[in-house]
Amino acid sequence: MRTAMSQLDLRTAASLDDALAILRDDPRVPVAGATDMYVAVNFGTLEPRKLLDIWALDELREISVVGETLVIGSLVTYTSLIRSAVIGKRLPMLVEASQQVGGAQIQNRGTIGGNIANASPAGDSLPVFAAIDAVIVLRSASGERRIPFGEFYTGYRKTVMRPDELIVAVEVAPVEGKQWFRKVGTRAAQAISKIVVAAVRAPAPRIAFGSVAPTVVRVPRTEKALSDGASIDDAARILGDEIAPIDDLRSSAEYRRRVSMNLLRRFWADTEGA
Ligand SMILES: Cc1cc2nc3c(=O)[nH]c(=O)nc-3n(C[C@H](O)[C@H](O)[C@H](O)COP(=O)(O)OP(=O)(O)OC[C@H]3O[C@@H](n4cnc5c(N)ncnc54)[C@H](O)[C@@H]3O)c2cc1C
Repeated sequence: MRTAMSQLDLRTAASLDDALAILRDDPRVPVAGATDMYVAVNFGTLEPRKLLDIWALDELREISVVGETLVIGSLVTYTSLIRSAVIGKRLPMLVEASQQVGGAQIQNRGTIGGNIANASPAGDSLPVFAAIDAVIVLRSASGERRIPFGEFYTGYRKTVMRPDELIVAVEVAPVEGKQWFRKVGTRAAQAISKIVVAAVRAPAPRIAFGSVAPTVVRVPRTEKALSDGASIDDAARILGDEIAPIDDLRSSAEYRRRVSMNLLRRFWADTEGA
């Protein structure tokens, strides 16, 4: 039987070294869980026809702690994040985000590397990694580089990643303070975020929003106002000026601005005394 997949030229990597050599010698687009890719295949909008299946690379599936740093392999799925004791302890807001991604099938196949590389401003894990200043580890056949999360995205669905590179891991330093995550969508499961926010309540609060700009964003003016002791109403007004959401199919810009301001107030109230 011929399917949309039949027209694709798919190679399967046997190991990370094999994958990186293939990307160097025979440029291809990596496929991990294929949850984003398959949507594009089905809609007929997938341009690259040459793909590299990296799903078998178990070396990218580890969650470990090296020194103080939490290292999450790029092929770690949402289900693995939800079940991981160390993630539950160190990054409870990533567990919450993972529980709200798609449904069980998507959680079983979707990976954090795919969420980050797909570069949708509505990606639910992105505000979490932005708020905690994670580091993305990229590897190619010629070496490895570490990119601060805040420098990874250069525009709408654009990143600094080269075609011969893979995301191999995300590194996270210990997070001090109470973590908070909220996703606003049309329903609890299978809904793309209208607004998604991750935040940490600490003397210097860290707050990141998705779906309010072409990329996930931190809101430094709002963070500074809160750390300087501004009232939450003043901080919410600053946030309203600081973000520039767009009108699209899912929501109006005005709705997104108002909901973002309300979410900031909710974050502040929920983490009071933390
Ligand atoms: C029904 C449905 C519901 C969904 N719900 C949500 C949701 O609620 N929240 C949300 O955020 N997302 C959602 N998604 C989107 C998707 O499931 C996630 O973005 C997922 O994390 C993608 O991971 P993947 O491994 O399937 O990526 P893939 O589809 O395999 O790849 C996506 C992109 O990332 C690239 N890529 C993948 N891995 C790597 C790597 N290691 N290095 C470099 N590039 C890489 C691929 O080349 C491709 O461009 C949903 C998708 C579907 C179909």
